[in-house]
Amino acid sequence: MLNICTICIIIATCHIWILLYNTTMTALNLIKKYLNFIFFPEKCVVCNQKKHNYVCDDCKNHLNDIFNPKIVDSTQKGLACMACFEYKNEIRDMIHQFKFKNYKKVSLILSDFLSLGIRKVFKTQKIDLVTFVPMFLNNQDDLKYNHSKILAEQTAKKLGLPFQKCLRKIYNNEKQHNLSFYERQKNVKGVYNSVDKFKDKHILICDDIITTGATLFECKNELKKAGANVLCATVAFTTLH
Ligand SMILES: [Zn+2]
Repeated sequence: MLNICTICIIIATCHIWILLYNTTMTALNLIKKYLNFIFFPEKCVVCNQKKHNYVCDDCKNHLNDIFNPKIVDSTQKGLACMACFEYKNEIRDMIHQFKFKNYKKVSLILSDFLSLGIRKVFKTQKIDLVTFVPMFLNNQDDLKYNHSKILAEQTAKKLGLPFQKCLRKIYNNEKQHNLSFYERQKNVKGVYNSVDKFKDKHILICDDIITTGATLFECKNELKKAGANVLCATVAFTTLH
């Protein structure tokens, strides 16, 4: 039979080993981080300088200064869309990197600001789930890089809300960016439909940019037909030039 003293010694020894293990692992992680920084430094996604993080402190402070989440004036009646920044300079560069160069890390900082903006502007609004603007891909929706989906998924996570696919794109249309205001509205008409009924659900659609709001308006209307109340949030806003 083990006496009390022996049991105490065994417990104390276990604690010492656990402590030693934790300290060693922390030290190894720090060394790994340091070596990574020396040999494979991260580049700040905004200024492109080699820094400790994917966005450096100076750039983060600058983004905080220009962060101005508000409901944008949309030409689409009844579209409540919050945007965090004006689409220009570093914001335009970041969205380009994320959208056209498939640089996923940019979405980490964009979704940080998007979730902050949503909390601030929609603080009194009920949101049950977060969704995205789907892509069309040979009837296999969203298997390839969908920036709206990545952004919405990360934002939902940061807001602690469920993320769900609510819409499908039923046929492929022309890209919106070269089209006029009226062409954009026509181009998205009937392109999306709801994947289910969403009676009395409060759904937030996230996307990167709002220009005329034609795409978000069409998505919103489809979800509305399915019974949902819809809010929209984008990283940036711009107008047609
Ligand atoms: Zn920077």
